Amino acid sequence: VKDFGIEKSLKNLGIKDENKGTSKGGQFFASGKTIESYSPSDGRLIARIKTSGESDYDQVIETAQKASKEFRMIPAPKRGEIVRQLGQKLREYKDDLGKLVSYEMGKSLQEGLGEVQEMIDICDFAVGLSRQLHGYTMHSERPGHRMYEQYHPIGIVSVITAFNFPVAVWAWNTALAWICGNVTIWKPSEKTPLCAIACQNIMIEVLKENNLPEGVSSVLVADHEIGQKLVDDKRIAMVSFTGSTRVGRMVSSKVAERFGKSILELGGNNAIIISKDADLDMSIIGAVFGAVGTAGQRCTSTRRLIIHESVYEEVKNRLVKAYGQLKIGNPLDENMHVGPLIDVDAVNQYQAAIEKCKKEGGKFVVEGGVLSGENYESGCYVKPCIAEVENSFEIVQHETFAPILYLIKYTTLEEAIAIQNDVPQGLSSAIMTQNLREAELFLSQAGSDCGIANVNIGTSGAEIGGAFGGEKETGGGRESGSDVWKYYMRRQTNTINYTAQLPLAQGIKFDL
Ligand code: NAD
Repeated sequence: VKDFGIEKSLKNLGIKDENKGTSKGGQFFASGKTIESYSPSDGRLIARIKTSGESDYDQVIETAQKASKEFRMIPAPKRGEIVRQLGQKLREYKDDLGKLVSYEMGKSLQEGLGEVQEMIDICDFAVGLSRQLHGYTMHSERPGHRMYEQYHPIGIVSVITAFNFPVAVWAWNTALAWICGNVTIWKPSEKTPLCAIACQNIMIEVLKENNLPEGVSSVLVADHEIGQKLVDDKRIAMVSFTGSTRVGRMVSSKVAERFGKSILELGGNNAIIISKDADLDMSIIGAVFGAVGTAGQRCTSTRRLIIHESVYEEVKNRLVKAYGQLKIGNPLDENMHVGPLIDVDAVNQYQAAIEKCKKEGGKFVVEGGVLSGENYESGCYVKPCIAEVENSFEIVQHETFAPILYLIKYTTLEEAIAIQNDVPQGLSSAIMTQNLREAELFLSQAGSDCGIANVNIGTSGAEIGGAFGGEKETGGGRESGSDVWKYYMRRQTNTINYTAQLPLAQGIKFDL
């Protein structure tokens, strides 16, 4: 089996054959059960991990509480300096970490490196932001009074992440949470535990070099039971959850019940409208990359193409041709376009979705199937496929985390927008058109109802500078750029009276 330098990268990142899954920012320890991480690329056991047990959990929370009191007193620009150093370390480890992401999760090496680049970018963004956590000042209606608002840290932020972005989502949250003066506890997906251990190893170097207390950055590699504890724990001020709508729905209500804060980044069902005025060359590239990139396992993957009737046949034929050229294989091999699904469970869900689609009347113009034989020993490689469907099919309304692309025909743009919006999810959307009227209608309040709406760009891939997230069953949360930092802080309005009188607001008299 070709190694692609993975052994060396594992060593550089401090991954051993046997690992422990709990860290408060120093040495790893663990008292829970042992899990194994297999690569979906070649089916090889990469390493074993002893997960966090109940007693580890309490230690981590208590240490984080203590650290929070200390960390919040460090001036924000000094916290920014720590994040700057993290960005620097990530530059040094970019190749190794990108390779591990690719090997453990199964996305292409280029996408793995791209994910680490996102981590570096959010660090840079957060450093600048650490000098700009500003509130408004406003004029008081009372003489001799000053009024302003300020933002304070909220305490412990727990970050629960999905398998498909095993490192970037942690960085999006952590870089912002820290400059805001919070401490973080990360519960990564149990499907990508080694990525988390590698990130924490990098982090430990930064924490040590800055003499920071334990508890500023913790990790609990564990299953959903520890995740559930974080959700229910009153000591956790905010739960930033990235994952399925099914789990997110529960997280949302449980955190709300205890009046905690949450950020929810849940499933998508993203569409590109290809208009009669689209540049079809661009549309095909955008659609194919959006549908098959990360083997259809991005929250922003393109799942539906809504195509104008006048270009429908041409687009369909060109897609069929493009799919015929896709090379499916080891994601570390740069000649491949499509890697594996995360595990055999995901393969089963892909097959079930194809069956369901056929039962509902879907017509496959590119057939799917599971690949076997040489280079496909892991059993996780599937063929990207395309079906002609109705938007109302139950399976089309549902997010299947696999490379299945649905084609839908439309006549008027109003109809296309209605189809695009007629799903429970609201993450990413796009229109391919060179017609200004169409583009503006799509972006208007009568247009896309998603958190992300693009023109002449596909649905997948977003820059860290913008707020990232979606509406409806995608959860309504926002992460990353713009003014998202405000989610990670509590807001306080302050009024100061510098006179010797006590005038009441709204002119109320209260004479004693
Ligand atoms: P998942 O919901 O199965 O798991 C996500 C995380 O939740 C994991 O860490 C898991 O251990 C944890 N978890 C499971 N049950 C829990 C519980 N009861 N309490 C607390 N935590 C619990 O999702 P997945 O399969 O890892 O990821 C795929 C999903 O994530 C897709 O739906 C995808 O669209 C979504 N996603 C969304 C975004 C976004 O930004 N909107 C980004 C990436 C992934």
